[in-house]
Amino acid sequence: MRGIFQVSAGRRRLGVIRGDRVAVIGAGPAGISAVIQLSRSGIRPTVFEEGEVGGLLRNANLVENYSGFPGGISGMELCGLFRRQFEAFSPELIRERVVRVDYDGGVFAINTPSAEYFADVVVVASGTISKKPDVAIPQGLTDRVFTEIVPIMGASGKTIVIVGAGDAAFDYALNLSRKNRVIILNRGERLSCLGVLFDRAMGNSRIEYRTNASLTAINPAKSGKIALEISANGDILTEFADYLVFAIGRVPRTDFLAKKISQNTEQLMREGVLHFIGDVHGGRFRQTGIAVGEGILTAMKIAERRTGDE
Ligand SMILES: Cc1cc2nc3c(=O)[nH]c(=O)nc-3n(C[C@H](O)[C@H](O)[C@H](O)COP(=O)(O)OP(=O)(O)OC[C@H]3O[C@@H](n4cnc5c(N)ncnc54)[C@H](O)[C@@H]3O)c2cc1C
Repeated sequence: MRGIFQVSAGRRRLGVIRGDRVAVIGAGPAGISAVIQLSRSGIRPTVFEEGEVGGLLRNANLVENYSGFPGGISGMELCGLFRRQFEAFSPELIRERVVRVDYDGGVFAINTPSAEYFADVVVVASGTISKKPDVAIPQGLTDRVFTEIVPIMGASGKTIVIVGAGDAAFDYALNLSRKNRVIILNRGERLSCLGVLFDRAMGNSRIEYRTNASLTAINPAKSGKIALEISANGDILTEFADYLVFAIGRVPRTDFLAKKISQNTEQLMREGVLHFIGDVHGGRFRQTGIAVGEGILTAMKIAERRTGDE
């Protein structure tokens, strides 16, 4: 495997980046663990992260299934620990969004809005992105409508409506209910969350759960709140909220992969130059422990392949 990860001429030059030419896209639990294990093998990857190191897990109320934390730990705290461990290995961190990854002549070209980078091996650890709501969000209200709750974790005394019926909807509700009133809207009756989350929410007087309640319109209210039009059992009701959160499912985030890569994914994976780890390919099985394990496994395979090349 060749040595240097370079920036192309013709675009903004950032200089030569030290280390092996392994790029990790995303610094959530999967990317973090890959980076740590790669570093332990003497490979210094370059990591691209458009948001905060820690990823989606920062939203989690109580992580009870990640080993080492009897009694559980909040997602934010666990991510704080992940971040410290990640930073201790001083990886090259590019705080930008990857907008395109292409593959030509045995080399990946990775584009951010400001530069182009080259790598021999790419690890895609970009997780998932929320499905698009099917209700129009008025321009003036976009700063009060969310698909993750990190931006409103400090909210207090507010009314927050959450749309969804899965783990995320109930986990968000439990988290936000500490200081707020929360209403969960399920458009049907079917639940797709863990029983333990549902039971905890039902035992919480600050969480109201409504079934057969579909959000049909979002409008600004004179009071400054958001007026939510809700169709419930044949009636149309208006609920006034401070914030609205959509927890309506997530899809893999691979929009940055060029067609050439999508069409040759299996071949590139067989060659050991393209890897997918964590939620981005987790399907229904999206958990931190899985993401972390896959990060380590992939890093070990990359290191083994390098040793084989030498
Ligand atoms: C409310 C909630 C509660 C949860 N509770 C638990 C729990 O109790 N136990 C558990 O095991 N799991 C839990 N999870 C799931 C857990 O958060 C995920 O399984 C885990 O975060 C997956 O890690 P990942 O690294 O694969 O993806 P992510 O955490 O999604 O990280 C992906 C990272 O890639 C970055 N990225 C994406 N695209 C780009 C791009 N183009 N350019 C640059 N950066 C990019 C993102 O900004 C993000 O930081 C919960 C999730 C939610 C939402």
